[in-house]
This record gives sequence, structure tokens and C-alpha cells, in this order.
Amino acid sequence: DQQTILVAGGAGYIGSHVVADLVENKYNVVVYDSLYKGHKQSIVGLKNVAFVKGDVRDGDLLDKTFKRFEPVAVMHFCADSLVGESVIDPLKYYDNNVGGAISLLQAMGRNGVDYIVFSSTAAIFGDPEVDIISEDTPKAPKNPYGETKLAIERMLHWASESPSSTLKYVALRYFNAAGAHPTRDIGEDHSPETHLIPNVMKAIQGSGGRLKVFGNDYQTPDGTCVRDYIHVMDLSQAHVKALAWMIHNDLSGQFNLGNGNGFSVMDVIGSAKTVTQREVPYDLAPRRAGDPPTLVANSVKAKSVLGWRPEHDSMDDIIASAWRWHQAHPAGYKD
Ligand code: NAD
Ligand code: UDP
Repeated sequence: DQQTILVAGGAGYIGSHVVADLVENKYNVVVYDSLYKGHKQSIVGLKNVAFVKGDVRDGDLLDKTFKRFEPVAVMHFCADSLVGESVIDPLKYYDNNVGGAISLLQAMGRNGVDYIVFSSTAAIFGDPEVDIISEDTPKAPKNPYGETKLAIERMLHWASESPSSTLKYVALRYFNAAGAHPTRDIGEDHSPETHLIPNVMKAIQGSGGRLKVFGNDYQTPDGTCVRDYIHVMDLSQAHVKALAWMIHNDLSGQFNLGNGNGFSVMDVIGSAKTVTQREVPYDLAPRRAGDPPTLVANSVKAKSVLGWRPEHDSMDDIIASAWRWHQAHPAGYKD
């Protein structure tokens, strides 16, 4: 019998890619999403995928959904995830992110579901002293967004440690998700879009104005910030492997997920120029508040424990896949 996975936030950018991968890997999927940010089109046309429109803070609807579909595990992608907005409206972030996770864990408890994969983030590390970040690098979030994700990780820890608990969890700390599905017509469409790669694509297409490069006086090789961009399909594979590992071994764990290579903002612009054969119109702009100079993952643990390996470690590869999506959908899912 195929196992069923409840994917909360499965109509979002990363969630929709994982849903497609779960189906490939012979799971049944129930996507539970309020569509407050996601796109229903991103999950249509897939066999063995059901959809429930609802908020993760709605315990009654979660109970009905658990009873109807009897999932063995949950993947939890729902969140508000804009750093700047979290500084302005922190309670919104505690409500949706922490409140949503509490509601989901309580519903899992009421319905005897023991396994959850949680979307965490490099933002839990803040501005670390080391450039290559491993699982035990000290956590010191610099904004409410990162703070809520760390609070959820701690909550998962204590909830799984409780003597009466059978809960097991995996927290996956994504670095910078990028790229799009190679064969399905899905990709990144956030509104507002704050991420570098889609903003580079939009600048090339002339739909988002000129790109702003936020600061070129950082302590990095070319002065612009360095990040670890990880292809969304590599992230997706890590979810499939983490799910199987957790259920098979009945264990919990935390894993940093990056491809281990740092690329500066100027590297990304250079690669976009090469891959698209187009100019990237950009202007230098002041630093964006709260941006650490360098964030690169050490993903040795995910490799050794989960047997995961990122397959797309070149920036050109990531940009080419993002470019295909943006060319087909210059206005995102509206096109
Ligand atoms: P996204 O906004 O595209 O997807 C989130 C989905 O959750 C959306 O479909 C939205 O409608 C849904 N949602 C939000 N709140 C909900 C609620 N209360 N009830 C039901 N549905 C709700 O975001 P994404 O870029 O795919 O990110 C997914 C997860 O990964 C988030 O938790 C984010 O914090 C984390 N993350 C993302 C990145 C990145 O680079 N995109 C990096 C690190 C961590
Ligand atoms: N960035 C930029 N212009 C943009 C968007 C981002 O210069 O329009 C920079 C940003 O300052 C950071 C890097 O690109 O140094 C990656 O930013 P993004 O928002 O994609 O991811 P983050 O690392 O903040 O999660």
C-alpha cells in the first residue's frame, strides 16, 4: 500500500516541487494550503494528489483531514518568510509560524501521527563567526523570522523528548533555494519577490525594473554578499530521503542543506549574463538591513547520514533552470 504524506504549504514554491517528487517516489499526497501565498496551478494534473484548502491554525479542519486521509507523516512548509516584514510585524510571524506549528503538532498528537519534516532556515544562525556553517554552529537569529524558526526547532526538540511522546522530527535548514522543476511547469513566483535570482531574471526581462545590488563594501572577495544557492530539486531530494530515514530508523535530526559553494551577488549576475546571453541592468544600492556578508552550508551530515548529494552545484545550471521558468512565465502563474 502506498503511504500518504500530508504536505502543509504544498502549493508554495518549495512545497510544490517536493509534492511532485513524492509522487515520483510512489507516495500519495494531501496538500493542505490556505493559498494565501501559494498557487493551486502548481499542484494540478498530478495523480495521487488531493487538495484541502485550509489554514494550518484550523485544528478542526486538520482533524477532519487527518481522519479522512490517514497520513503517516507530515511535511510542514507553511510560513511567513520575509525578513524585512518580520521586523515590522513580528507578531504576525509568531502567530503564523509558531502558532501554525503548535496547531499542526497538536493535531498530529490527537490523530496519532508521529513523523514531521519541518522547513527551517539558515536564518537561525544569524551572522555567525564562521563562514562555513555546520549543524552545531551557534544559533543567534538576527530577526523575528529566524527567531520563530528556531523557536519551532526547539519546540520540536522538547515535544519529541517528552517521556510520553512518540514524535520524531527532521528539521531541514535550507540555505538559498533557487531554480525550477526540469519537466513540470512549476517554478518560483513570490509576491512581493525579494530573492536575488528571480529579481535578476525580472531585471533581464524588464518586468521588475533595474536590479538593485544591495551593498558592495562587504568583507568578501568582490564586496558583494556571498550565499549558498541550492537547486530546489536537490532540496526536494533531501526531503524524500529525510522522510524515509526518519520513518525507517524512527529517529529525529537536524540537517543543513546547501551545495557548499558560495556565490557572490556579482557571480550570480555574471552567470545570468552567460546563460541568458542578455544584459542584467543593475544599480548599486545601499546595504539591505540584516544581510550577513557570507552564509555557506557545511552539508556533510546530510551527505553521510541521509546519503544525499546535491546534483546541481554550478550556478549556470541553477540559473538555466530558473531562466526556463521565467521565460515561459514572465508574470509567474498568471501567465
Ligand atoms: P512559499 O510562500 O512559496 O510557500 C509557503 C506556502 O505555505 C504557501 O503556499 C502558503 O499559501 C502556505 N501557507 C502559509 N501560511 C499558511 C497557513 N497558516 N495555513 C496554510 N497554508 C499556509 O514559501 P517557500 O519559498 O516555498 O518556502 C517554504 C518554506 O521554506 C517556508 O517555511 C520558508 O520559511 C522556508 N525556507 C525557504 C527558503 C527559500 O529560499 N525560499 C529558505 C529557507 C527556508
Ligand atoms: N540581493 C540583492 N538584490 C536583490 C535581492 C537580493 O542584491 O534584489 C542580495 C541580498 O542582499 C543578499 C543576496 O542577494 O546578499 C541573497 O538575497 P536573497 O534575498 O535572495 O536571500 P537571503 O540570503 O537574504 O535569504
